Amino acid sequence: MQHVVVIGAGIVGLLTAYELRRRGHRVELRSQGIAEGASFAAAGMLAPAAEIQHGQGPLWDIMRAAGELHRELAAELPGAGYRDASTLVVGRDAADLADLRALGAVQRATGAEVRELTGAALHREEGALLRGLAGGVLLERDHQVDPRRLAASVLDALGATGPSDPAPRSARSVPGAGPPVEIRRGAVTDCAGIEADAVVLAAGLGVPAIDGPHRALDLSLRPVHGDILRLRVPQSLLLPGEENLVGRTVRALVRGRPVYLVPRDDRTLVLGATSREDDLAGTSAGGVLQLLQDAAEILPAVRETELLEVTTRDRPGTPDDLPLLGPVPGAEHVIVSTGYHRHGILLAAWAAQRTADLIDAVPPDSRTAEHLHAVRPDRFTPGAAPTGAPVFEEAR
Ligand SMILES: Cc1cc2nc3c(=O)[nH]c(=O)nc-3n(C[C@H](O)[C@H](O)[C@H](O)COP(=O)(O)OP(=O)(O)OC[C@H]3O[C@@H](n4cnc5c(N)ncnc54)[C@H](O)[C@@H]3O)c2cc1C
Repeated sequence: MQHVVVIGAGIVGLLTAYELRRRGHRVELRSQGIAEGASFAAAGMLAPAAEIQHGQGPLWDIMRAAGELHRELAAELPGAGYRDASTLVVGRDAADLADLRALGAVQRATGAEVRELTGAALHREEGALLRGLAGGVLLERDHQVDPRRLAASVLDALGATGPSDPAPRSARSVPGAGPPVEIRRGAVTDCAGIEADAVVLAAGLGVPAIDGPHRALDLSLRPVHGDILRLRVPQSLLLPGEENLVGRTVRALVRGRPVYLVPRDDRTLVLGATSREDDLAGTSAGGVLQLLQDAAEILPAVRETELLEVTTRDRPGTPDDLPLLGPVPGAEHVIVSTGYHRHGILLAAWAAQRTADLIDAVPPDSRTAEHLHAVRPDRFTPGAAPTGAPVFEEAR
C-alpha cells in the first residue's frame, strides 16, 4: 500500500482517488473546492466519435479507450446517470450536412459506427426536431453521463456526504480497498514539501500556480471559457410516456456553429456550449443568445422551456488538445494529470487508470504506451528529454 496525495477534486481528481483506493492505496484528497470547477459545468457527453476533429490522431484512440471504461464504471456507480442512448448529429442546412459528411469519413476511418439519416428520418427518430432539417448522422457509440451525479456518486463511494459539506470526511470501509479517503479542503500552494509516496496534480487550471518540480515544465495550459444552460421542459410539452423533448443527445451544426442538447431524466435539457478565448471571464450575453437561437432553430420547443441556470467555467486547454499526464522528469513521484480540455468527463476514467498504473508500476501494453507518449507533460518544454520512452521500451 502506498500513500498518495491527490490535489484537486474535480472529476479527474475524484476518479483518481477512487481508483487508487480501490487498488488498496491510502489516499488523501486535497482540494480548494469539490467538483465546482469545469466539472460542474460539463454536459457529460461521452463522445469519442462526435468530438473527432481533423488532425487530432492520438486523441481519437484515447477517447475510444476512455469511452469503453465508462460502461464498466456505470456498473460500479449506478447512480452516476450513465445513459447509452447514442447521439444524433444534425445539419441545419446543406452546407452543414456537407461538413458532417466530411467528418463522417474521418469518424468511420477510426472505427466509429456512423449511420447517415435524411431530414425525414431524423424527424422519425426525434419527433420534436424541426421538420426540414438537411439531414444528419446517428453515432451509435456516443453516450452520456451526468457529471454532477457522477461526482456525487464517487464522493459517496469515498464516504463523502456531498459537495457542499465543508467538513473533512472519511470513507466507509470497503473490503479489499484502501483505508478511508481523507478529504481536506483548502488551496495547496506548494507540493514539494508533501510527504507521500506519490503526489498527483489534478487541479485542472490551478496546476501551474502550485509550487513544485513541475514548475520546470512548460505546461502551456490556457483557459477556454464555456457558457452552458440548463432548461426545464414543462410537462405540457410532452406526450404521454415521453420523459423529455429528445430521448438522446442531439448535437447540431447551425450554419457552421456547433450546439448541443443533452436530455436528463429529471425533465431538464443541458444546452451548450460556447467555446471562447476572449477576455470576458464571466458569462457572455452574446454567447447565451446565440446558443438559445441555434437550439431553437433545430428544436423549436426550446422557446417554451424554463431557463433554470446559466453556468460559465473554463476548460483547461492545451495547444494540441491532448491532456498532460505523466510523471515529472527528475521527480517521478509527482504525476501531472490535467489539460483535459473539452473531454475531461470522457477521459477521467482513463486518466484515473493510467495514473494508478503509473503508481503501481504496471507496464503498459503497446497501445497504452503510445497514448502515454502522446500526453507526456514535458512535450511543450524546450529541450526536455522525452518522458516515457525508456520506461515503456520493454512493453513496446
Ligand atoms: C461548458 C463546458 C462543457 C463541457 N462539456 C463536456 C462534455 O460534455 N464532456 C466532456 O467529456 N467534457 C466536457 N467538458 C470538459 C470537462 O468539464 C473538463 O475537461 C473536466 O471537468 C476537467 O476536470 P478536472 O478535474 O481536470 O478540472 P476541474 O473540474 O476544474 O477541477 C479542478 C479542481 O482543482 C481544484 N483546485 C484548483 N487549484 C487548486 C489548488 N491550488 N489546490 C487545491 N485544489 C485546487 C479546484 O477547486 C477544482 O475542484 C466541458 C467543460 C465546460 C466548461
